[in-house]
Amino acid sequence: MTQSRKGVKNEARVIEQYCSVCKKTFDMEVVEEAEKNDVLWLKCPGCDGFLPYMVESEEGDDKVDEPGENQQEIAPEDFSAEDKENSLEYDKSMIYKTDDIIYHRSWNDYGKVIARETLPGNRKTILVNFGHQGKIRLLEGEG
Ligand SMILES: [Zn+2]
Repeated sequence: MTQSRKGVKNEARVIEQYCSVCKKTFDMEVVEEAEKNDVLWLKCPGCDGFLPYMVESEEGDDKVDEPGENQQEIAPEDFSAEDKENSLEYDKSMIYKTDDIIYHRSWNDYGKVIARETLPGNRKTILVNFGHQGKIRLLEGEG
């Protein structure tokens, strides 16, 4: 019987990615795979920084909607003018709180902090529900 498995974990994967810190493109090692399979973490060989990498679904998997989850999808229009005025521009050296409104300049996107999490290596992250990008994990308190 042949089993087809989605993730091969015993092999280092490398993804070519641009580092905005080094201003160069590197082949970066995948250091961690998020459980939900939507964000990978890449390690930049230039600055040793960790970069989130958005995985695009190649297999066209059906979206699994989990009813009963009380975190609603956020649309761009859900952010009021007041939200935007009070938003904090994303900076990885900053520390954010749950429910903070974040503005991500590179993506021109507003998001709400829905969770905070500390990764192995004591890297702090926030999970942000963006209007356009959806839920994305970002680093905080770096540097
Ligand atoms: Zn770098």
